Amino acid sequence: MAGHITGKVFNIQRYAVHDGPGIRTIVFLKGCPMRCDWCENPESIEPRRQLAFYSPKCIGCGDCQPACPRGAIDLTRAERIDRVRCDNCGQCARVCPVAALKLIGEDLTVEDVLAQVLRDRKFYERSGGGVTISGGEPTLQYDFLYALLQACKDEGLHTVLETNGLVAWEKLEQLTPLVDIFYLDLKSIDPALHKQHTGVSNDLILSNARKLMAKKQAVVFRLPLIPGINTTTAQLELMADFLNEIKAKEVHLLPYHKLGENKLASIHSGLHPLPVPEMSRGEAEELQKLFHAPGRRVIVGGA
Ligand code: SF4
Ligand code: SF4
Repeated sequence: MAGHITGKVFNIQRYAVHDGPGIRTIVFLKGCPMRCDWCENPESIEPRRQLAFYSPKCIGCGDCQPACPRGAIDLTRAERIDRVRCDNCGQCARVCPVAALKLIGEDLTVEDVLAQVLRDRKFYERSGGGVTISGGEPTLQYDFLYALLQACKDEGLHTVLETNGLVAWEKLEQLTPLVDIFYLDLKSIDPALHKQHTGVSNDLILSNARKLMAKKQAVVFRLPLIPGINTTTAQLELMADFLNEIKAKEVHLLPYHKLGENKLASIHSGLHPLPVPEMSRGEAEELQKLFHAPGRRVIVGGA
């Protein structure tokens, strides 16, 4: 019956090469308990499905307005959708001829997702790839995540779990037989800075990082580098010390970009554009040496 468990999925991306080894399919689950100021997938944060409005695509045909049963669409308003009235039914998105309206988040069973993932099995086998489960924070839909990972393992697929680590250790530990590599985000070691920019404490995350390493799991630590926020000398030294303490074997530096910012207006997320510049690959490469240690691989970007 596990195959019938339903999860809220907001994207399934095929032929990905930056979120684990080889060619992979990434399954993005909706919902996240953090509110990172630099979130690159703000449409993933809310656990429920959401209507997105992409104003640059809109041709002003007006077809959506009569399709709305709740009178939530006003063509004269820049933001277009009255978010108090809208119940995210998706009827407007069905009639929009140019996909300027789109429902984010679809209820899919484990069987549905697995069927899509298995389409590319031959690419996984040739490239050493597999499936990556991402979000949002996938552990928020724990039963679905567990069943999906189990189904992937039953098919002999290589699995990567991308997580922010904000999950009870008992639950994370139960996933370890089903996950080949954990990709664990570390935003900041400084408790106050972490709380300020993500909305949550980092106690549990750091504790889980220590426990995964003590349990000899394969863990890639992913560090978003946000100029002027977690890239000061003091912040970088704290991070390097922590990675040394837990004997991290692989570190990926992720220079800040503004792709997520462009999505903010479409979903009315409540997050605001971050007033910091993007970081170039070259700037991130200059910071790479701070994290070098014997036996550790440090790269810029994902792999
Ligand atoms: S999602 Fe439904 S309620 Fe919301 S604007 Fe579209 S049709 Fe109206
Ligand atoms: S149906 Fe689509 S293109 Fe037409 S007005 Fe509505 S959002 Fe714009």
